[in-house]
Amino acid sequence: MSFSSFGNKFTRHSGITQLMDDLNEGIRGGDDILMLGGGNPASIPEIEMLFKQKLTELNESGALIDALGNYDGPQGKDTFLSALAALFKDLYGWNISSKNIALTNGSQNAFFYLFNLFAGKYNDGSHKKVLFPLAPEYIGYADATLDDEVFVAAKPNIEELENGLFKYHVDFEHLEVGDDIGLMCISRPTNPTGNVVTDEELTKLDTIAKAKGIPLIIDNAYGTPFPNIIFEDVTPIWNDNIILCLSLSKLGLPGARCGIVVAKEETITALSNLSGIIALSPGSIGPELALPFIQDKSIISISENIVKPFYQQRAMNAVKLLQEQITVPGFRIHKPEGAIFLWLWFKDLPITCEALYQRLKQKGVLIVPGHYFFPGLEQEWQHTHECIRMNYSQKTEDVEKGIAIIAAEINAIYAEH
Ligand code: PLP
Repeated sequence: MSFSSFGNKFTRHSGITQLMDDLNEGIRGGDDILMLGGGNPASIPEIEMLFKQKLTELNESGALIDALGNYDGPQGKDTFLSALAALFKDLYGWNISSKNIALTNGSQNAFFYLFNLFAGKYNDGSHKKVLFPLAPEYIGYADATLDDEVFVAAKPNIEELENGLFKYHVDFEHLEVGDDIGLMCISRPTNPTGNVVTDEELTKLDTIAKAKGIPLIIDNAYGTPFPNIIFEDVTPIWNDNIILCLSLSKLGLPGARCGIVVAKEETITALSNLSGIIALSPGSIGPELALPFIQDKSIISISENIVKPFYQQRAMNAVKLLQEQITVPGFRIHKPEGAIFLWLWFKDLPITCEALYQRLKQKGVLIVPGHYFFPGLEQEWQHTHECIRMNYSQKTEDVEKGIAIIAAEINAIYAEH
């Protein structure tokens, strides 16, 4: 059997496929595997209880079966779009209406639409790229385009902080945004590092994008106002040139597959047309379930008072355990400013992070080797082989056991060399 070039491109091994395979194996593998690899949000009992109660109410009122029994339009559930527009207007004063919002089957689905809308081959013969102004970036962006050679990434500046922490910054001095760039994209908070680009950095990126006449995607999957897994005090921004992507996943609903895009009307119309062809319409269960929390605005207090403190506490605990147990001098952790991961950097690691991943897998711990998170970075950089990403938010005993195994392995590897 032979596949088309589309088939060949989209069936080859990718980092995201390895990650989702591992995640599945980890989740189904029972007690034998400590799953610190995937991007599954934590199970937070108070949040699960709220969703359970709401599902019961929606079931009893008939709204649930109604949502299941009907297609929404290609732009997504109307009531949800209007309620969200009102929420953003009220919270941030953004001048938007429901015409500025589209839903997709997860934000992963939105990136595929958006990258291919703005990058790749154009009718005038030009070929445009997606620029990630700050590598490392989210593994799920890699491979999500029809054309090859579409990503470029910029190496960051590294700021060494106190207490064994560090932070990446955009290297504006060397950031090149040529005429071949069709789109810029940044996650804030960033998966895999937990970095939150500062307001100043974001404003600069926005200014550059506007000057170049290209959109700036801000991937807000972990950001405000929901799920609000962001530990820094920063200002959310949106304007006509920004495409803001949100998701219900990290609030605790990854199975609902609900991504949200806020953008200018022209972009939303394009997404809606794409959605009609590719999916008919986005799923309606996520929006139906989340709608009451948006309408009464409780999504904000839930995110602020339950979700954020849960993750912040877990992050601090994991940092403490890692720093107590990993004794090699070159060990650094990216300052945890948000998202559900810690990014560990082992300076002068004697083996590659891929080899470390294999060794840890043998010992029953799944993490993600760092080199996957540099899509588009053309130059060879040793740093990409010295980092790993771990999900700190899974069951406490799993994280504790996992950290003990990682620490023993790392201490042994440096001692062996
Ligand atoms: N963006 C970032 C930064 C992520 O980490 C993830 C998932 O891990 C996504 C987007 C995709 O989320 P979803 O497709 O579930 O909305």
